[in-house]
Amino acid sequence: MMRKLVLATKNAGKIVEFKRLLAEHAKDIMVLGLNDFPDMPDVVESGKSLSENARLKAKAISDFTQLPALADDSGLFIDALNGDPGIYSARWGDYLGEDSSQRDLVNINKVLEQLKSVAKDKRGAQFKAVVALYQPNPTGSANEKEAEGVLPGEIVFQPIGNAGFGYDPIFMPTGFNQSLAQLSPRVKDEISHRGIALRRMMPFLQTNL
Ligand code: IMP
Repeated sequence: MMRKLVLATKNAGKIVEFKRLLAEHAKDIMVLGLNDFPDMPDVVESGKSLSENARLKAKAISDFTQLPALADDSGLFIDALNGDPGIYSARWGDYLGEDSSQRDLVNINKVLEQLKSVAKDKRGAQFKAVVALYQPNPTGSANEKEAEGVLPGEIVFQPIGNAGFGYDPIFMPTGFNQSLAQLSPRVKDEISHRGIALRRMMPFLQTNL
């Protein structure tokens, strides 16, 4: 029997990656998303950590759909900026429009501007993702589970590459000489914070969904 799981996100880049990762690791899970629930609410990310935000998004979307929901809260943590933009990664450039590639560009430009006089060996950064599952159950209580993934790397001086989303064109993972936006989807899935977090979550999904 197909088991249902709702992706609690409106971020097109995350949706693509989650669908790809889940198709690879759990073929018996029917992945539902924004297309199936066009009125999915925007969840205010009022938490102080990736974990809090991931949990509150998963719960809100599960309450709305009455189905198990999987959320991701993720961000780019830059050493030279004391961990910024961190949980504010999506809103870092204060872009208020709807165009996600424009938002990515504004965010990237702000980071590059802030790092313009930071030397190559001081440009360390990490992508982090917390994936949270909220599963209602008939007794009224709920199952909750979260998993984290981290990808270390550095911020390059110029955006390069067209794949992926967000800050991918300025992030070079440790051990590679290409940006995340130059790597194939398969390689990004293998090494990424989101891939790592989701693979850590898989045993729980397989057992409990
Ligand atoms: P949020 O989890 O919705 O708060 O947004 C996380 C933000 O972090 C995204 O909008 C991107 O700007 C950035 N981000 C998270 N994961 C990635 C990634 O895999 N590549 C590039 N940027 C990412």
